[in-house]
Amino acid sequence: MPKKQTVKCEDKFCPLHGKTSLRGRTFRGKVIRKFPKRVCIEFERVFYIKKYERYAKRKTKLHARLPDCMADGVNIGDYIEIKECRPISKIIHFVVVGKVGGEGK
Ligand SMILES: [Zn+2]
Repeated sequence: MPKKQTVKCEDKFCPLHGKTSLRGRTFRGKVIRKFPKRVCIEFERVFYIKKYERYAKRKTKLHARLPDCMADGVNIGDYIEIKECRPISKIIHFVVVGKVGGEGK
């Protein structure tokens, strides 16, 4: 009998194999740093400054949990999508759900 799954994934925070419930916000960003089981992504947001009646850009950095089964597919420079879950550690309350096709914008 052939084995169904080739990638062994014992990460309970994995959105596909674990039991973590994803809820809340979704963000897309570029991977700027990669750690074991964690990535740091960065994306731009636009906000309005009333005094100057203009928009300004700011960058946001977020740390997200990288499940074992996706660790090989995600590298620095990739665009990925992350979803909010319950806080996994002090700085991680997002989980990587997958790659975003193309170069973004
Ligand atoms: Zn998994």
